[in-house]
Amino acid sequence: MRTVKSYPEAWPLHSPFVIARGSRHEAKVVVVELEEAGVKGVGESTPYARYGESEASVLAQIASVLPALQQGMTREALQQALPPGAARNAIDCALWDLAARQQQQSLWQQTAATMPAQIVTAQTVSIDTPEAMANSARALWENGATLLKVKLDDTFITERLIAIRAAVPQATLIVDANESWHPEGLAARCQLLADLQVAMLEQPLPAQQDEALSHFRHPLPICADESCHTRASLPALQGRYEMINIKLDKTGGLTEALALADAARSAGFELMLGCMLCTSRAIQAALPLAPRARFVDLDGPTWLAVDVEPAVPFVGGAIQLMPTSAAG
Ligand SMILES: [Mg+2]
Repeated sequence: MRTVKSYPEAWPLHSPFVIARGSRHEAKVVVVELEEAGVKGVGESTPYARYGESEASVLAQIASVLPALQQGMTREALQQALPPGAARNAIDCALWDLAARQQQQSLWQQTAATMPAQIVTAQTVSIDTPEAMANSARALWENGATLLKVKLDDTFITERLIAIRAAVPQATLIVDANESWHPEGLAARCQLLADLQVAMLEQPLPAQQDEALSHFRHPLPICADESCHTRASLPALQGRYEMINIKLDKTGGLTEALALADAARSAGFELMLGCMLCTSRAIQAALPLAPRARFVDLDGPTWLAVDVEPAVPFVGGAIQLMPTSAAG
């Protein structure tokens, strides 16, 4: 018999996290704990209102499969039992963690992925005045970050980007509009981004307006986030996006995320790996996909006032998986 626990947690942020869709002051997550013969596995997810989820709806979905889960439900069965989303994610990751601990392996070994010494992760510059965003970008750069993800809404695009680029002339910049732009004027904005050497634009248009990206010539890669959840999303993205942002909360766990990564690469998409506001528990589960991604954006826990223990070791703009040389 397997013991199952699920519960919500709220983790205060050290600074407000502001994107086009609104601002956040805490990370609200759902945790699933599984225990078999004294071995524990844990999974975490972040319910997201944009996808019709709340803490209550996610906990209710988890409760709906509780008896099956207690009786040993497998990852394969789980994929059929719940739709993609935060509930399935927390359970799927708990099952992966449980299997790894039962077999005394790392998640890297379980997924046959090779652990790199470090993973460069984007650090987010959240929406503020152009000056404040430039200051934030400079502070991140001075702290070692080389890849910055600039959140934008539909205002002060030029002012914000010019101020940021002037503050961090050497940084790799990616921009995320979180669906806040419109087809009208998109071409000019893409040109501005290219002129400022922005490396990629994430989800400029609302997902339901993806049609406007068909036959739209653009000078930098465009990445689907809100428009891409699982393998089923891929056909509609062909010819519109060059890259997809994989998040375990959207795929409903690592199992579908691995399958999505394979299918997307076969279909010619480049990969980005992202996260929601979360603790290091959620990041641990996503790490095996990092070596396959052109851009890794796993800075969720760096926004927390306090993270879980053990925390993923964020140092400057990277996750340090192997200790650097003790010499010197
Ligand atoms: Mg995004």
